[in-house]
Amino acid sequence: MTVTADSRQYALIPDWLITMQPVGAVLTGHAVVVSGDVIADILPVAQLAQRHPQVQRVALPDQVLLPGLINMHTHSAMTLLRGLADDLPLMTWLHDHIWPAEQRWLGEEYVRDGVALACLEYLRGGITCYNDSYFFPDVAAEVTRAAGMRAVMGAPVINFPTPWAQDSDGYFARAMALQQCCQDDALIAMSFAPHAPYSVSDADFVRMRDLAAEHDLRIHLHLLETSGEIADSKAQFGLAPLPRLQQLGLLNERLIAVHMTALADADMPLLAEAGVHVVHCPESNLKLASGFCPLWKLQQAGVNVTVGTDGAASNNDLDLLGELRTATLLAKGVSADPEAVPASQALAMITINAARALNLAHRIGSIETGKQADFCSIDLSEPDTQPMHEIFSHLVYATSRQQVRHVWVAGRQLLRDREPQTLDIERIRQSTKKWQQRIGTQQP
Ligand SMILES: [Zn+2]
Repeated sequence: MTVTADSRQYALIPDWLITMQPVGAVLTGHAVVVSGDVIADILPVAQLAQRHPQVQRVALPDQVLLPGLINMHTHSAMTLLRGLADDLPLMTWLHDHIWPAEQRWLGEEYVRDGVALACLEYLRGGITCYNDSYFFPDVAAEVTRAAGMRAVMGAPVINFPTPWAQDSDGYFARAMALQQCCQDDALIAMSFAPHAPYSVSDADFVRMRDLAAEHDLRIHLHLLETSGEIADSKAQFGLAPLPRLQQLGLLNERLIAVHMTALADADMPLLAEAGVHVVHCPESNLKLASGFCPLWKLQQAGVNVTVGTDGAASNNDLDLLGELRTATLLAKGVSADPEAVPASQALAMITINAARALNLAHRIGSIETGKQADFCSIDLSEPDTQPMHEIFSHLVYATSRQQVRHVWVAGRQLLRDREPQTLDIERIRQSTKKWQQRIGTQQP
């Protein structure tokens, strides 16, 4: 039985239900009743006829229903630069390849087409919400809203002119215009997305700190991506990045710090106490040989660590299930502890803990009555995920994103049997080909 956009009262009946409330629990023989955009009830199937006699039943055989996955760090429009420059050091990659391509092509059309391609990939990978950092977030918001997805759009702040803004006042004016347009949006929220400590001034950090406090916004920042940042920051600002941000009043629960590879043990209690959220992007870090984020040590210190794919130019896929697997395996290797980041706990990093980092845990991140009806279902019937001894083990160590079968956001089905319901694959293919020709002809 299928569910149309208009019929928004239905009961999903999966073989397994993982609510993330509490983390590590699995229910069988349960139904999730959706009414409009919210979860109206979670109950044993045996009670469904009595409590919801009229509700349309949607059986999900061989499937596990999970909260929609949350990609905590990405640059969605950069899908168009996927595979353009690989196997290079971070600064060579950025200065000689990525920034020149962006200077040439960045604009509304580029962002519109790149974000549509990313949204298609997100949905087919079970991702319902993403935390973005890129130019033209207003255009990205439009595309994402039309796809029916959820996102937090980062308004960029960087110390040089781009097609998005010319100077500090320009970046802040555009950020506050975005804030105005997102503040009552059901699907899109906004944050500040300062590029990195080395490309943002003290004055701009202070300005966004005050605006973020006033409007209750997150600050989404690349931080300590490489160890070279520490010496550079001491030379440029007289302080390493963490003490500098602490002095500027940025180390608090609003800060979403991405990468964090160059951390000392002594930094961890400081981050935990301040409530800073960390996003680990292991595949981007591995590919650029940036170092290792000490995921397990951070978690043990009490820091909320989440996972992001980073942009498609440095990963090169937007596969969050794959990223989670890399994160957990790497954590074991880096900490020399096979018990690090157990599978039953790992899924929290891309669901409920991600929602907490985004200040959206009251709405998304777990399957609970009253929360938004954001789910993905994963088909575990294939031999690749048999036999079924332990479901979290399968989800973290054996499942591929190709097993994602259905996706719902705010009660609306956006992916049905892997077919997108709100995005036109053929149109996305054509626009991507157009960019391949344009960007390709510019390459040396
Ligand atoms: Zn990034």
